[in-house]
Amino acid sequence: MRLRNKPWAKDKLAEHSNYVIDNPTEQKGKWHEIFGNDHPIHIEVGTGKGKFITGMAKANPEINYIGIELQESVIVGALDRILEDPLPNIRLLNENADDLNEIFQEGEVDRVYLNFSDPWPKNRHEKRRLTYKSYLNLYETILVKNGEIHFKTDNQGLFEYSLRSFSEYGLLLKFVSLDLHQSDFEGNIMTEYEEKFASRGNRIYRSEVKYLNG
Ligand code: SAM
Repeated sequence: MRLRNKPWAKDKLAEHSNYVIDNPTEQKGKWHEIFGNDHPIHIEVGTGKGKFITGMAKANPEINYIGIELQESVIVGALDRILEDPLPNIRLLNENADDLNEIFQEGEVDRVYLNFSDPWPKNRHEKRRLTYKSYLNLYETILVKNGEIHFKTDNQGLFEYSLRSFSEYGLLLKFVSLDLHQSDFEGNIMTEYEEKFASRGNRIYRSEVKYLNG
């Protein structure tokens, strides 16, 4: 993700604490109160500028969405989208995915989305990949039983690595597409990266995997 220096981003995020929750660990176990309903909660880790999560929230009003993004200068783009078209079923967290189990209680999240996660191609950086086994374990601690991860990328190496990692962890591979845009999958909502890479002719890979812990 190309970063521009946006010194005002921090203040803007703080000004809109109704959408960008600034004390997320205090909400642990209480996210349904924030949304005011018991609808399922789906999170996107590494939400970027929020094209996917805002599109999903608009298309699925009966689901609550939380976008989690490390970089304040990037997540401010997601906030701008929400401010342009406000929706009740979306919130943002300017947080590191490493802290997910301090933010959500066991079973509080119904689905995890990973879209165009940083590939970290060097072997010595394997542990940083968001599909590395320690992250799969982290997601398992916050997901409902038999919860799912839905993953898209244009990076063949990361996709192959992730399928192996999912499988070695014991996750069920429910759906795998090696060319999403040429498949019969319906209702795809594109991310910023997806739009950019697909327009260059890159293939998009997608998988849905499920924990078998019910
Ligand atoms: N999902 C978006 C898309 O498809 O357009 C953005 C993809 S971008 C390549 C990956 C994003 O993940 C970056 O904005 C990065 O800051 C974020 N990210 C990487 N590691 C993260 C972590 N541990 N916690 C939260 N966000 C993270």
